[in-house]
Amino acid sequence: MSHETEIVNRLRNELADFSKRAFYRGLVGGTGGNMSVRIPGTDQVLITPTGVSLGDVEPDINLLVKLDGTIIENPPGQRPSKETSFHLAVYQLRPDAGAIAHVHPPYATAYSNKGRSLPLVTVSSRAVLKDVPCVECAVPGSKELCDFVGGGIRRHPDVRAMLMKEHGILTLGQDLKTAYYLADLVEDTAKIAFIAANIQTDDGGPS
Ligand code: 13P
Ligand code: ZN
Repeated sequence: MSHETEIVNRLRNELADFSKRAFYRGLVGGTGGNMSVRIPGTDQVLITPTGVSLGDVEPDINLLVKLDGTIIENPPGQRPSKETSFHLAVYQLRPDAGAIAHVHPPYATAYSNKGRSLPLVTVSSRAVLKDVPCVECAVPGSKELCDFVGGGIRRHPDVRAMLMKEHGILTLGQDLKTAYYLADLVEDTAKIAFIAANIQTDDGGPS
């Protein structure tokens, strides 16, 4: 087996592992969400298939696509995620992005409905995330949504996580592990923000 094939196979396994972890961690339900990873040093990306729960992603159903959208390896019966276009746009705009997670975690998604940045209520979230801006809502899989995501990346060139209004979140990191932990941190931060906002003060009112 060539060195390149070995790398692709390793990343196929990692993509399946982190997709399952995202599902079983509760970062996404049903058949929502998608994840992808860049093949280092190439213009190729592995991405999860459309319509498959992240809890059911197996290494051999992930698709290999080029940054221009050409499908290179298409496992039987699978089509690429409907959000492939925004994944590819992010890789093009951010050469440092090695992996992307798009999930629908309940607390962070609820905050996205406000259309504002996520309140970064902990020191660690401020240190790691700096700012989690919110991009506008559009139909999943649409060119409009891809443009909103691309616009968010252009306006916030160093961003590691964004809220997607009334939809979910997107994180990007140098590898899948980083993108996954960023998504986990975004959701934990949203939970803490919600709990803190609902803690009663001594005078009986919200803090
Ligand atoms: P796919 O199943 O096509 O990846 O879509 C899921 C999703 O989250 C759409 O925004
Ligand atoms: Zn989605």
